[in-house]
Amino acid sequence: MEVLNIVKVGDPSDSILTKPAARVRDFGPTLHKLLGDMLQTLREAPGVGVAAPQVGVDLRVSVIEYPEDEEDPEHTMRVYELINPEIIKAKGLEEGQEGCLSMPGIAADVDRATFVLVRAQDRYGKEFRIKAYDWLARIFQHEIDHLQGVLMTDKAKQLYRLVELPDGKFEAVPIEETLPGRLKTKASA
Ligand code: ZN
Repeated sequence: MEVLNIVKVGDPSDSILTKPAARVRDFGPTLHKLLGDMLQTLREAPGVGVAAPQVGVDLRVSVIEYPEDEEDPEHTMRVYELINPEIIKAKGLEEGQEGCLSMPGIAADVDRATFVLVRAQDRYGKEFRIKAYDWLARIFQHEIDHLQGVLMTDKAKQLYRLVELPDGKFEAVPIEETLPGRLKTKASA
């Protein structure tokens, strides 16, 4: 497995982040290599989810690694491969602060549904449905947004810059209304 370069907002190639990705039609070895590379990239970052456009690939593919049950004391991680995913049901609404591998150093308060039912295909093209609650539901929505060219900054109620403190922790400092141009992701498309 190979670690891929993550496309960041402000990169010359960042227009891939703001356009809808193409449907996957070929479920062969090229897709399987991409899925492995995306997982490796996610673990290296580290992050909880990555969408193919974030590694410069114009396909509706997302890889997520997150515990299925947050209450599980073992914190057992599960890998989700979502191909051509679609949200077919959403319920509830909750504000939460999220980050994005394509926007390092930035956090955003975004309203997300607390439950989603997603229809997707697996790596062999077989259709399945999956339910996600709370933070996992948020990750699914963030990743599926990426496949539509939608970034968290497009939906953010408030943006923050993450500032590293002397003890190595990060503090989220609100960014004022006049955002630097590079954060206006629609404009940079
Ligand atoms: Zn993201």
